[in-house]
Amino acid sequence: MDASHSTRKRPRQTDSEDDTTSECRDEGTYVEHPSLYYDDGNVILSSENTLFRAHRSILCKASPVLRDMLEQKAHEDRKPDVLRGCLHIALDVETQVAETLMRIVYNDLRLDTLTFVTSQLSLVTSIFRAAGKFRIERTLVEVYARIKYKWPSDLEKHDRRIALEERMNLRGPIGVTLLGEDGTVVNTVRPTAPSTRRVAFIHPVHILALVRSAGCRDPEILTPLLYAWTCAPTNLAGYDRVLHALPQMDLVRYIRGLEYLRCFHAQCMAVSPTANNLALPGDHEYQCWPGIRVFWADLGGAWMDTNVVFAAAREPIEAWGLIIDRLTIHPMHCTRYNICSGCSDKLITMMKTIRQGLWSNLTLWFAVSLF
Ligand SMILES: [Zn+2]
Repeated sequence: MDASHSTRKRPRQTDSEDDTTSECRDEGTYVEHPSLYYDDGNVILSSENTLFRAHRSILCKASPVLRDMLEQKAHEDRKPDVLRGCLHIALDVETQVAETLMRIVYNDLRLDTLTFVTSQLSLVTSIFRAAGKFRIERTLVEVYARIKYKWPSDLEKHDRRIALEERMNLRGPIGVTLLGEDGTVVNTVRPTAPSTRRVAFIHPVHILALVRSAGCRDPEILTPLLYAWTCAPTNLAGYDRVLHALPQMDLVRYIRGLEYLRCFHAQCMAVSPTANNLALPGDHEYQCWPGIRVFWADLGGAWMDTNVVFAAAREPIEAWGLIIDRLTIHPMHCTRYNICSGCSDKLITMMKTIRQGLWSNLTLWFAVSLF
């Protein structure tokens, strides 16, 4: 279960004010963690009813928050809370988060294995809770690096990532408009089951909520996550709950960006490029441009077709990429559109510009840097 959704329990309260020695608590209610209880440790951390025994110097080095807590404990006026001869701190986090904290502190967590598959959701959540609350910067930096690898801000890296996931069969149908055998534009839906395959990865809105909870404001992280959110399904269990966890301004960003993104895509799709803005040479305005107009109308028509427009609009950057790839493999002069290879190249260049425009404007459209 996702740790962020579990009921937060209050940690065991110390009762040192009532006791002459604070060691007379009911020890029977505590359980030692099976692997994170170091017998030679000199500090005990507790979460719910689990005890972790650790080394003060290691805790202080790893986390400024733990260091402050330990220093404050040592210098407060009242008798320090002592358990089993060690300074005791009751952590205000769930056991899983405390366990993750200990594993981070003792370098027992390989963050380079994070691939953000759904089975890692509770681990990723507890890493953010632990590293965020106890300000362990190196861990946050490592997790952000993994997020950037999965959701890159660079379009070429994004394309490589998508291609890799396609090869691994982890993606459903992206663009659904392909050129048919005779070179005409037809709709083809790949025989895959998107709803079952897409959930192989943690929904980007979960990751967005986590990075926001850790105070992330980096456009290079936020923008690709917001785009990935617009591409992802919205009918998953727990989706509503995650939306509630997001800052309200991120919902505003999402809606704003979504509208700009889809409008720009629809506009480019609907309005044929002119011979002038394609910079067609001389006579090609008469030889090739009529074919370009028909091709563009067919392309727009295919994208507007029932059910297909939704898929193409949902992943517009991938849909344009797919068409560009298809046109590169099957040049237009081989098709019934009668477009020469030079004009076909110009058309491809125009599509690449549209695609790059979609990608480059995302930060602006989602207003990532504005508020
Ligand atoms: Zn031409």
